[in-house]
Amino acid sequence: MLLFCAWLMIITQEIEFECVPISLMDHVLNFLNDVREDLRSSMAKDVITIKNEGLKIVEDPNCNELLSAVNKEKILQQPKDASVDFQKKITLLKHEQQHNFSSLFRNEEIYGQLVEMECEGELLNQLLQSRRMTMDNIRASRQQFILVASLLDRIPNLAGLARTCEVFKTSGLAVADANVVVDKQFQLISVTAEKWIPIMEVPVKSMKNFLEKKKREGYSILGLEQTANSIPLDKYTFPQKVVLVLGREKEGIPVDIIHILDACVEIPQLGVVRSLNVHVSGAIALWEYTRQQRSH
Ligand code: SAH
Repeated sequence: MLLFCAWLMIITQEIEFECVPISLMDHVLNFLNDVREDLRSSMAKDVITIKNEGLKIVEDPNCNELLSAVNKEKILQQPKDASVDFQKKITLLKHEQQHNFSSLFRNEEIYGQLVEMECEGELLNQLLQSRRMTMDNIRASRQQFILVASLLDRIPNLAGLARTCEVFKTSGLAVADANVVVDKQFQLISVTAEKWIPIMEVPVKSMKNFLEKKKREGYSILGLEQTANSIPLDKYTFPQKVVLVLGREKEGIPVDIIHILDACVEIPQLGVVRSLNVHVSGAIALWEYTRQQRSH
């Protein structure tokens, strides 16, 4: 916007207008004032957000990534370079000597307002930079553990796993249909967990591609399942980067998926009942992974 207005004034100067019609200048001035007000209100919101985030970080020094739920989702979904992807405005002060901009503006008032807006732009830039650092902080503090629950159907299991994944700060929870998070029953159980961790939509038919992609990214692709070759959980040492696949509530992990796994782990059982609930199983395995990471 600023570039356009400065250009407009330079053009009117260069094509030898004797003077810019007052009505045009008033239009430009009104436009600039509107832009400035918009910028000011959005910056005020950002200042409050950053302050809240700052306060929370200060209040809880052991947890330097705690952010207000309202903004975490936005921050985590923002593209990595969103903070620098900010239109560079003309720097009036810097160019003043070369073009003597102040003489271009019919009166000091307009020039002064543009300079003020430039300073506000710089402030906004700093706020965006600070926000990006916070976002990087969040990313850096997650455990490199992704839970794949795409084979699960029951909402209480999915919602409970979302809560467990958030409590242990995993890198994400993969589900077959991400719309499940808006279900009322889901939200009753997840207690807002879905706002704090990445929920990835991985339909069953895309699971193989997803697992192969994660394998290329250096993740160990594990299954949590009772199979002939499963390793007892208390005998298994987790690698740092883990993708853990859970099985269907009834049939478990299908054979074609078992075949592409690096390994299967199982929770030793002492009783008669065939198996544990899938959410309980995922929680036990996730705690064992976390316990091992904490013991390093
Ligand atoms: N194998 C189970 C399958 C249903 S349980 C059976 O035959 O009953 C649903 C899912 O919970 C399993 O696919 C697995 O992911 C997990 N699960 C349940 N009990 C488990 C155990 N003891 N060890 C590892 N995973 C278990």
